[in-house]
Amino acid sequence: MRLRFLGGLGVLAAAAILTTGCDSQPADTVKMADSKADAAAKAKASKAAKVQRAAAVKANELGQIPVLMFHRVVDKPGTTDDRSPAQFRADLERLVKEDYVPITAAEMVAGRIDIPAGKHPVVLTFDDSSPSQLTLNEVGVPHKDTAVAILKEVAAKHPGFRPVATMYITRDMFGKTVREEQAQTLQWLKDNGFDLGNHTRDHINLRGRSQKEVEEQISTIGKQIASLSGVKPTTIALPYGNQPKNKNWALHGPGYHHDGAFLAGYTPSPAPFSKAFEPAGIPRIKVMEKKGDCSQFCSEAWLDWLNKNPDMRYVSDGDPRTVAYPKFKNPYLRKTFATWALPY
Ligand SMILES: [Zn+2]
Repeated sequence: MRLRFLGGLGVLAAAAILTTGCDSQPADTVKMADSKADAAAKAKASKAAKVQRAAAVKANELGQIPVLMFHRVVDKPGTTDDRSPAQFRADLERLVKEDYVPITAAEMVAGRIDIPAGKHPVVLTFDDSSPSQLTLNEVGVPHKDTAVAILKEVAAKHPGFRPVATMYITRDMFGKTVREEQAQTLQWLKDNGFDLGNHTRDHINLRGRSQKEVEEQISTIGKQIASLSGVKPTTIALPYGNQPKNKNWALHGPGYHHDGAFLAGYTPSPAPFSKAFEPAGIPRIKVMEKKGDCSQFCSEAWLDWLNKNPDMRYVSDGDPRTVAYPKFKNPYLRKTFATWALPY
């Protein structure tokens, strides 16, 4: 009531000024200003409601995000980089149970994190574009037990678990050598919401290479992906996780512009809204049980750690246009997202 009354007073003054100089209708002006005051009141109420909702789910959009690194999904894993179909199913079932929802690497680096309130984003990444990740039959159905088929199966069983992932592509092109078949595979991925990323043409170690070599390795495969699918990759995964001498060469070069370059280890990633986020070197986590080299820094260990440290983990407030977090974390908000801030 009070707000309405004040709004009305302002309107009278505004109307008086307006009517002296032109032919505008005072009644319309009153209405307009009234609705402006209403809109302001509504915006305030909606912000208060948003804050309340964010606090209720303990939203923490400056928290950490696990970016999981997969390679092949094969019956008999040859190295610790490989997962068997059964292991991969179990990896996904664990994520479902612990309230993770997949987003793509492109969505993450752009700050487009659109998942329900209380859920945690996870990024599933697949390196090296191997046929074990996706092979399609003659009518475009993924072969049983390929990574993509398994992801779709698990998602169908658990509504809300998005079947999306980022495929880091090299010239291996999922084992396809015929251009039309390459196009079919990449276009299928695009049409099904998968994200196409750059993994360099020949999968070479970029450390110590000249700028020309680095740019050539990145731009040629980037152009090939674009011409086959119409998608320009917005992220790159660095082979072996090694940055070039100048880390920005991986981000910008002739014909390519990446918003993020992903490494190969060893921790969860800061949120893209956090000052700790470093676009030229975003950490990923190898998917592996807690044993040997993986006793601490692979997926089982980190997912356990995130469970035990819920204040460190990214929790969504359900609104992709806000960055909600406990007020105490305010100094860590990246300036570019200041207008989205919703501290509580
Ligand atoms: Zn690789």
